[in-house]
Amino acid sequence: SASPVTVLGLGAMGTALATAFLTNGHPTTVWNRTAARADALLPLGAVRAEDVAEAVEASELVIACLLDYASVHEVLDPVAGRLKGRTLVNLTNGTPAQARETAAWAAGHGIAYLDGGIMAVPPGIGTEQAFVLYSGPREVFDAHLPVLERLGAAHFAGVDAGLAALLDIALLSGMYGMFAGVFHALALVGTEEVPAEEFAPMLSGWIGAMATGIPHYARQIGSREYADGVVSNVAMQSAAFGNLLQAAEDQGLSPELIAPMQSLMARRVAGGHGHEDVTGIVELLRKQA
Ligand code: NDP
Repeated sequence: SASPVTVLGLGAMGTALATAFLTNGHPTTVWNRTAARADALLPLGAVRAEDVAEAVEASELVIACLLDYASVHEVLDPVAGRLKGRTLVNLTNGTPAQARETAAWAAGHGIAYLDGGIMAVPPGIGTEQAFVLYSGPREVFDAHLPVLERLGAAHFAGVDAGLAALLDIALLSGMYGMFAGVFHALALVGTEEVPAEEFAPMLSGWIGAMATGIPHYARQIGSREYADGVVSNVAMQSAAFGNLLQAAEDQGLSPELIAPMQSLMARRVAGGHGHEDVTGIVELLRKQA
């Protein structure tokens, strides 16, 4: 029979996680600070714990999905002793440093710990679109893999507890950079009443086509070599980028979502790298050691 699991936190995401466990037959104990949020799960068979201690003691596997790491500590610090000998999988969004700090806290209390990052929205949980990143001891991941896979594809990021958060934050950074450009583009065409439904497929096709360059950019940034096979040098791109900012101003739109790349490109050109690819701007991001 399916193994028991406890879910702490029943926001939009925690509710989706608990639902995936329940619909796959796992005895599921739930706890949420605002107890009424468990109501919707009771018809699916969820057991509502009266308090965190009871929730933690109900299952060998405890999944936390709270707002942030401050709430994780607020909820779990008082029950650290009861978590001893159990497995805690923390799917709360956080930084690599927060993940490592929490892994050290768990180790200090004899708690097996995996840190995780959910790459899905709540309706995607349990579908083929969802994947979840995990880091921590490999044997802990392997032991719980059949349960974790109920949520979506499980990707092991490494034994360093901070690596799942690193990849999660990197993916979200890429997403928000994309959003910045896409939202600006949609606002820009809107200044001339271009029908959004006509422009949207053109934009999504263009973004998809541009994304095919990611492996090439990865090689350049990984090797820190930006000069080979350049077809769109940064001096040219810097000049054209000025038109992006000017057009926004002319159309009565603030360019602030896209503006930061301009000064980076200009600095790169001024530094004598105008013939290289635009990826070289990452050299300007690296803080001096
Ligand atoms: P919600 O805002 O829907 O829920 C937040 C949850 O955190 C609630 O259960 C809330 O309890 C609880 N909480 C907040 N502060 C405290 C506290 N001090 N003590 C106890 N409980 C607390 O957020 P989501 O469920 O959407 O997100 C949860 C986590 O999942 C976040 O880290 C988020 O970044 C991550 N995530 C979310 C995604 C999404 O699209 N929703 C996608 C990927 C990751 P209460 O009900 O009592 O307020």
